[in-house]
Amino acid sequence: MSFCEKYFEIMDKNFPDKRYSTDELAGKFEILYNELVAFNEKVNLTAVTDIEGVIAKHFADSLLIEEYIPEGSEVIDVGCGGGFPTLPLAIVRKDLEITALDSTQKKLNFVSEMAQKLSLNVSVLCARAEETARKDEYRESFDVCVARAVARLNILSELCIPLVKKGGLFISCKAAIGEEEYREAKNGTELLGAKTKNTFTPILHTVTEEQKRSIFIFEKVEHTPQKYPRQYAKITKKPL
Ligand code: SAM
Repeated sequence: MSFCEKYFEIMDKNFPDKRYSTDELAGKFEILYNELVAFNEKVNLTAVTDIEGVIAKHFADSLLIEEYIPEGSEVIDVGCGGGFPTLPLAIVRKDLEITALDSTQKKLNFVSEMAQKLSLNVSVLCARAEETARKDEYRESFDVCVARAVARLNILSELCIPLVKKGGLFISCKAAIGEEEYREAKNGTELLGAKTKNTFTPILHTVTEEQKRSIFIFEKVEHTPQKYPRQYAKITKKPL
């Protein structure tokens, strides 16, 4: 089976309305797949490299949050690593302006290369999220902050919510988490000025199995108090 046939099969399973099943998008994701696997030989971006695995666990998985991002948003992806969810979102949503943030330059080199090659509206920022959120230029300046598989929710909230403007959204996507992880994060998200808007537990369909995911959407309803975010050591030692 060719890349495109596998792409259509997996996307159709996950998104039955077929919104991502076009030849144009399949062609772009094929380029992204080939480049990812080649770059991965030099810099470790992912343990998943087989075609079905990458299409399901990186491409489709990144797109699970796409429908919750408002039209024309300025988005920051905290801990984007090799570009997930940044690159799939930027491929399907030309209206978004995405800042891909990570503390590892080597990974961002791949994101920049792909943004150039596929003419995506993506810029990269090599920095720590908590330091970035203390700079006037970035603090409370994004419509939406997304993060996939970066940290426990109570830690991630303090890295992300200060970057979101009042009225904006923080969208976290991760492997299914228990009620406990959400409960232990709730108090902190409120201290940071956000409240829960929605939670979803979609199923990600791979070729052979179904995996649960957790999506949390928080809305910024108040400004974040100036004392947050704290230093990373404090965030992790004593989460809010
Ligand atoms: N989001 C990508 C994905 O889903 O494939 C990468 C996930 S990877 C497990 C976590 C990434 O978050 C790493 O690339 C790491 O460098 C980055 N990261 C963790 N804490 C960070 C922080 N405080 N500031 C910036 N980047 C951070």
